Amino acid sequence: MHYIGRFAPSPSGPLHFGSLVTALGSYLQAKSCYGKWLVRIEDIDPPREVKGASSLILKTLEVFNLYWDDEILYQSACSERYQAVLQTLLDKQLAYFCDCTRQRIHNLPYGLYDGFCRDRHLNGLNQPLAIRLKQTQPVYQFTDRIRGIQTFDIPNAQEDFIIHRKDGLFAYNLVVVLDDYQQGITEIVRGADLLPVTAKQISLYQLFGLPTPSYCHLPLVLDNNGNKLSKQNHAKPIEVINTQSLTIQALQFLGQQIPQDWQDATQKQLLDWAIKNWKITNIPKQNSLLTTNIR
Ligand code: GLU
Repeated sequence: MHYIGRFAPSPSGPLHFGSLVTALGSYLQAKSCYGKWLVRIEDIDPPREVKGASSLILKTLEVFNLYWDDEILYQSACSERYQAVLQTLLDKQLAYFCDCTRQRIHNLPYGLYDGFCRDRHLNGLNQPLAIRLKQTQPVYQFTDRIRGIQTFDIPNAQEDFIIHRKDGLFAYNLVVVLDDYQQGITEIVRGADLLPVTAKQISLYQLFGLPTPSYCHLPLVLDNNGNKLSKQNHAKPIEVINTQSLTIQALQFLGQQIPQDWQDATQKQLLDWAIKNWKITNIPKQNSLLTTNIR
């Protein structure tokens, strides 16, 4: 089977060092498998979107010579396709409307949804309501290619999770699966912050009868407080003036060897070398602090 990988940033801000690590890791894994590397802009959440972030992200990838194959998929252009799936799930009673408040769910054991609205037959006609998946194919375990066997507790795996939000937006856990299928993705390489929702996503592949891709969850770059570098935590945007040295630091973060004479290499030569020498087995299983001062 031909390898197809992807990088799927949300345009909630410019790329930071943590997202560069994810972009580079997914690119090198795809290219070392002689595969394609696609980019998808996950712009389904307009309130969280920062104007101009999509084009800034793409420009930054280009400066790093991280050129994508095929056309970019913008989730904002796919609502009809998502809506059709949502309607099918509702028609087959594999999904249902829910009017439970966050507060109610917060007070439940584990803070997980208890299926209260499963048989209430709400229709969402009079007020906007969330739509939940009726979980019939819970997944309790999967094997991550970097972190090994991952197990999920029963309440978590069995939770009827939200697939369409009360504010009218499609939920990430649904559309990520629909789009990875649409783009023919065979392996998902992304940050380890998404490990906890992976079982939910695999349950959707099983429900839809689709082949499940393999997963590689990369270590997260942490700040001094132990938090993931993120746009929300105001991580410093990537400065595109020192691409080679940033690439070297990202490679080191991913446990990869670096060429001795990298200062003399062009960005393209550096990436070609990194593709040839890429070893997925060297990627650390733990998140870690950044030891230099790019934050
Ligand atoms: N859009 C997500 C993010 O920027 C990544 C989703 C994924 O890779 O599955 O964190």
